[in-house]
Amino acid sequence: MEKKVIILTGASSGIGYQTAEMLAKQGHIVYGAARRVEKMDALKQFGVKTLQMDVTIEESVDKAVKAIIAAEGRIDVLVNNAGYGSFGAIEDVSIAEARKQFDVNIFGVAMLTKKVLPHMRKQHSGTIINISSMGGRLTIYFGAWYHATKYALEAFSDALRMETKGFGINVAIIEPGGIKTPWGFIAADHLEESSKGGAYEEQAKKVAEGLRKLYSGNMMSSPEVIAKVISRATNARRPKARYLIGFGAKPLVFLHTILPTRWFDFIMMHAS
Ligand code: NDP
Repeated sequence: MEKKVIILTGASSGIGYQTAEMLAKQGHIVYGAARRVEKMDALKQFGVKTLQMDVTIEESVDKAVKAIIAAEGRIDVLVNNAGYGSFGAIEDVSIAEARKQFDVNIFGVAMLTKKVLPHMRKQHSGTIINISSMGGRLTIYFGAWYHATKYALEAFSDALRMETKGFGINVAIIEPGGIKTPWGFIAADHLEESSKGGAYEEQAKKVAEGLRKLYSGNMMSSPEVIAKVISRATNARRPKARYLIGFGAKPLVFLHTILPTRWFDFIMMHAS
């Protein structure tokens, strides 16, 4: 297997953590990035190099990319994985929080991608893997801003793939279904917090409880399932454009495609 230089965001938890471990065990040079750098300490035993990075701060992104180029002279694979779910009713969620959601899930991806692209172009090779979601193709109740960012990421990634094809760069989108990580609890907390004392409180509380129950149960796929697919895209000469994988992903996207919109709304509103 060809040894690649990889930068992976969101390596301090969940999907990113498992992926960093898997890719490092395969012998790749893996740079794991996150804000909570201490959460990545245990990854060092597998050879993962850790970087402190906040994807919303340009200086921080710039510094990380420069450090990798100084040490390795190249970046072969970029995995844009960092993200969170800012759930809450549109009327309740502040525009400041909505902007933050876009800053992390979309502009963070764009900022890091823009810094890495000149190096990949120079090499005339590289793979960019964007972690979207099945939520980039359908919308869950009270998930407006999260889904808006993931739908945006789908379009961003498709445009990027066309633009960079001629420079030998691959772009792959991973669309996970429900994956057992802290993501569900973070989304539930945002939902409950934003709805307190407002018109949507009762419904939001029910949905938040449903999310917590789902993410503490055993139905969700494990983050290893996604790590394996990221590994497949990393090691492929020509990765697929889209990988739809994990709990619920294929059936829900299928239903969303075939059902009338209001029928699908009904399913989403009564899912918890
Ligand atoms: P986790 O909450 O376990 O991990 C999220 C990661 O994102 C953390 O490592 C966190 O690191 C990082 N992150 C968040 N904000 C920032 C920031 N401003 N700068 C840098 N890093 C940040 O969730 P998952 O592993 O589940 O999520 C990974 C990706 O998968 C996300 O994009 C998510 O939307 C997507 N996804 C998840 C699904 C699921 O069911 N779990 C389903 C579909 C998609 P730190 O806080 O240390 O910075």
